[in-house]
Amino acid sequence: MPFLEDSVGVEDLILLEPLTQESLLKNLQLRYEKKEIYTYIGNVVVSVNPYQQLSIYGPEFIAKYRDYTFYEQKPHIYALANVAYQSLKDQDRDQCILITGESGAGKTEASKLVMSYVAAVCGKGEQVNSVKEQLLQSNPVLEAFGNAKTIRNNNSSRFGKYMDIEFDFKGSPLGGVITNYLLEKSRVVKQLKGERNFHIFYQLLAGADTQLLKALKLEREISHYSYLNRDVSRVDGIDDVSDFKAVQSAMTVIGFSEEEIRQVLEVTALVLKLGNVELADEFQASGIPASGIRDRQGIQEIGKMVGLNLEDLERALCSRTMETAKEKVVTALSVTQAQYARDALAKNIYNRLFNWIVYRINESIKVGTGEKKKVMGVLDIYGFEILQDNSFEQFVINYCNEKLQQVFIELTLKEEQEEYKREGIPWTKVDYFDNGIICNLIEHSQRGILAMLDEECLRPGVVSDSTFLAKLNQQFSKHDHYESKVTQNAQRQYDHTMGLSCFRICHYAGKVTYNVTSFIDKNNDLLFRDLSQAMWKAQHPLLRSLFPEGDPKQASLKRPATAGAQFKSSVVTLMKNLYSKNPNYIRCIKPNEHQQHGQFSLELVATQVQYLGLLENVRVRRAGYAYRQGYGPFLERYRLLSRSTWPRWNGGEREGVEKVMGELIVASEELAFGKTKIFIRNPKTLFYLEEQRRL
Ligand code: ATP
Ligand code: MG
Repeated sequence: MPFLEDSVGVEDLILLEPLTQESLLKNLQLRYEKKEIYTYIGNVVVSVNPYQQLSIYGPEFIAKYRDYTFYEQKPHIYALANVAYQSLKDQDRDQCILITGESGAGKTEASKLVMSYVAAVCGKGEQVNSVKEQLLQSNPVLEAFGNAKTIRNNNSSRFGKYMDIEFDFKGSPLGGVITNYLLEKSRVVKQLKGERNFHIFYQLLAGADTQLLKALKLEREISHYSYLNRDVSRVDGIDDVSDFKAVQSAMTVIGFSEEEIRQVLEVTALVLKLGNVELADEFQASGIPASGIRDRQGIQEIGKMVGLNLEDLERALCSRTMETAKEKVVTALSVTQAQYARDALAKNIYNRLFNWIVYRINESIKVGTGEKKKVMGVLDIYGFEILQDNSFEQFVINYCNEKLQQVFIELTLKEEQEEYKREGIPWTKVDYFDNGIICNLIEHSQRGILAMLDEECLRPGVVSDSTFLAKLNQQFSKHDHYESKVTQNAQRQYDHTMGLSCFRICHYAGKVTYNVTSFIDKNNDLLFRDLSQAMWKAQHPLLRSLFPEGDPKQASLKRPATAGAQFKSSVVTLMKNLYSKNPNYIRCIKPNEHQQHGQFSLELVATQVQYLGLLENVRVRRAGYAYRQGYGPFLERYRLLSRSTWPRWNGGEREGVEKVMGELIVASEELAFGKTKIFIRNPKTLFYLEEQRRL
């Protein structure tokens, strides 16, 4: 039962009166100041990052939320996890928990709270405990390889993650499947000032004992490696040494063999060492610029470690073979081109290593296909992004958020509709902003931006980012959600903030300007065949297995799917998966830019409230009846308001509620009596009831 104490604001934003952006923000702020970081919008949990350890977690609190229904305790992620788990178990409905918010808002922490809650309440026994342990231990491993310190978050996930946890019919966990999305692989070779590379590199250098370091031929100093930013090595709140131990032990719990762990670390070391491969000018007799490897020792170490012949590696890095049906032409690469190839190789190896780790974890936790399973999916994925400079990465991330918003609106409305139907109450149509038109602009299979980008990438002849932009401008000159300098000029709008190489999309959350520079390159994501062939020749079993296309017998001239096409197809699969489940939402908000507790920046929160579409969410939720409650609990709370039901009532629950409301003379159009619940249209009615209780 939401209680409406003024000092901590309303616990459910549906009850806000009046409902405005301002009142919503004030309510969140008031609650945040009182350390009430969770607030509901119906069954959605809004969570504001406290940036401090609050004593509201752990076994005692888990026990509390386990035994009470949703509204009987303060809003909490545990309450949401409990509802999801109970309805999975008792009503046989697969669930998904969607966690969104911007970097640093607390998504990953929220997903871990959900997992630890479910682990604490779901079954017992040795076998079950070992499954739980494996599922939970996947977190430190994925965080070591996929998280990094950024300016915004000391432990920022640089990949999207969706995890299905699978249960048997009694609700005991059987295992799971993890899907990962788009690792930010550019971080492997370069980081912004004040940021670090992925945690594992620092963990390895700080945490490996001398023997291991020697075996991997690594130096302990971070400054030795050109792929590691020199200005940050240690991070507040992170202990690389103990984390390294934790990662190794987690890998063992999951089922990685000692040999596999060693190979993973070797490939990690290889990436670091590649960064130190220096390339230098070498002039061919013809005078055409060419390149060679300067530091022979470093490259020899690499060759030895992964069982790769030096000439093969040097040739792969410093030249490129063009194959046509008739002939092979080998061209020398300039130093800049060779450096580009080296970095592309490092990024590729690391990205594939990460995918392999996810694959390997899945091998351990997967459940046989024959068993009937109940599933709870947990999605921890990057939120809507508007940076100073937005590129291909932001474009696909925001596309994913656009799709998630679509799922959200459709499922929320559908759920409302279904509840009305179950309860036998007539449904009134709700107006809302349908973002299908924006999704289409991006994903339409022929005329969408992604398809047009693919077309440009595959087209023979001279293609460039600007030919791509020109096509977009032509195609979307009249589209309501597309703008560029060209379309603006045509409409005589002169906007100085828009660059010539940019286009802008009006997303549901706001306008974002994307710079097309390197869209083609990033979408192509091509690794020169010479490099994959060289990797495939390595004796190292793991490294070699990461480059199956390097096998000359396998090699066909068919081109792998573009980055955009791959991402789109994984988003489509994700959406299908989500649509088949009952959704539960956690919306995370970052209260300030400084990772500090106690600071609440209204301006910063306002933009997030907008990106998360919270106001629209409240509006949709209360479009019909803002509030509903089962007859039993409702009567229990308000029966003291009527002489007929107080102090004793012997009739049915529904009749009791009718008596109370009849006596209080609540207008009949304000109420609807469903099969099991009473529905109240306006929050004011509920305030009135609460006031009466206090008199
Ligand atoms: P990113 O998108 O960068 O991965 P995120 O939304 O996953 O960000 P988290 O890593 O979950 O953000 O949270 C950032 C930091 O905020 C955590 O490392 C932790 O210090 C703090 N934090 C988040 N949630 C809580 C919480 N419930 N209690 C205490 N601290 C928290
Ligand atoms: Mg995260």
